[in-house]
Amino acid sequence: MRAVTWAVMLAASAVSLGYSGRSHASPQGSATPIVYEVYAVRYGTIPDFSLAGLVAGEDRTKRLDIPLMVWLLKGSDGRVVLVDSGFVRENLVVQWKVRDFERPSDAVARLGIKAEQVTDIVLTHMHWDHAGGTTLFPKARVWIQKAEYAYYSGDAWQGKNTHGGIEPDDVLAMVRLNLEGRLGLVDGDDQRPLPGIACYTGGKHTYASQYLVVNSKSGRTVLASDNVYLYENLDKHVAVAGALDMPSNLAAQDRMRTQATDIKLIVPGHDPAVFTRFPTVAAGVVRID
Ligand SMILES: [Zn+2]
Repeated sequence: MRAVTWAVMLAASAVSLGYSGRSHASPQGSATPIVYEVYAVRYGTIPDFSLAGLVAGEDRTKRLDIPLMVWLLKGSDGRVVLVDSGFVRENLVVQWKVRDFERPSDAVARLGIKAEQVTDIVLTHMHWDHAGGTTLFPKARVWIQKAEYAYYSGDAWQGKNTHGGIEPDDVLAMVRLNLEGRLGLVDGDDQRPLPGIACYTGGKHTYASQYLVVNSKSGRTVLASDNVYLYENLDKHVAVAGALDMPSNLAAQDRMRTQATDIKLIVPGHDPAVFTRFPTVAAGVVRID
């Protein structure tokens, strides 16, 4: 009886995954491993951002200009994956005094990618500067952690202080994508929604923020997004400021070190040095791997 129950549950979970993604991501799998070219694309700059707002416990008087970026993955199978989507709303440009703002769809055009060519968008979390550009990419299927979507379209709005950095319009856009059948829900840690791309939770930058491990030329590149704001978080082993669970954030950072082929291939969410440590291939675009 018990064995039957487990067999049914396993079959059900295989169906709910809906993809043979695990075998794609594994070199041992039957499918040819997909390898991605990995790029960081800058679409604006927030000037004078507080360092203490990025690295927990840092000097409150220090400030720095931080890049706004998305990451573009060109797959060997022709897939074009955007990791995070930036934002579009003018009021946010004004509110955050964003310099050199460019719509993320125009920013990726510098790399020769048209908005219609983006097949998938994987959102690391629901903050405005990451989840606010999905409407620019009309053909893309959008992926997000199931718990992140559920929380920020539900419980987060029952309290006053539980949806900082989340734009109501972005939540509505996500609900619309779901109604259109274009939303993919990534259910928990160590999931492979797309070939060659694994998603991991535990960073706790937001309720269920995720980071990505991508099959790339040198092996595995970690796109940490805001689960690591700056290289300083990694170098000093300090959690991102405002993490919902700092020990969990640090544990995720430690885990990234074991997952990346080289620590240099862990890419933080807002470090200006990303654009100097890697070769520039177009204006505001660097190739990470
Ligand atoms: Zn951010």
